Amino acid sequence: MVWAAGCAAAGGEAEQAVDLVVRSADTKLARETKATTILQLSLYSELLAKIQGTMPEFLWVVPPGEGYAGEKYPVLEYAAYYRHVRKRLLMAVEEDAGKETYPEPVEHCNVCRWFRECDQRRRADDHLSLVAGIRRHQRESV
Ligand code: SF4
Repeated sequence: MVWAAGCAAAGGEAEQAVDLVVRSADTKLARETKATTILQLSLYSELLAKIQGTMPEFLWVVPPGEGYAGEKYPVLEYAAYYRHVRKRLLMAVEEDAGKETYPEPVEHCNVCRWFRECDQRRRADDHLSLVAGIRRHQRESV
């Protein structure tokens, strides 16, 4: 993630106050911007607003390509969607609070920093996912 700063000058020529507004930007490998990227940068913008007291006007996505020109998205245009997803996430987390969880293997495990711990747990439990070639729906029907 890149934090970019922009200056907004205010006041007359003789007396100029400069407000520094930090905005969120992120470089991505994908050429097309995904909804998850907008949500991620919306969260950063919200956090920045808490720190600096001003919501950045735009969030920036920098896809690969010549010159790495950033694409700007108006924060307020996505704010309602962001708040809706955040609310649903908080409700889901609250509902599941205190419930026992299990590290069922998923695609993200391949790059997850907790893989070692989860793998150890599955091995200790002799989990069905360790059976060569078995698929999730087959495990669930056993
Ligand atoms: S390795 Fe990561 S993604 Fe996979 S189950 Fe564990 S915590 Fe979840």
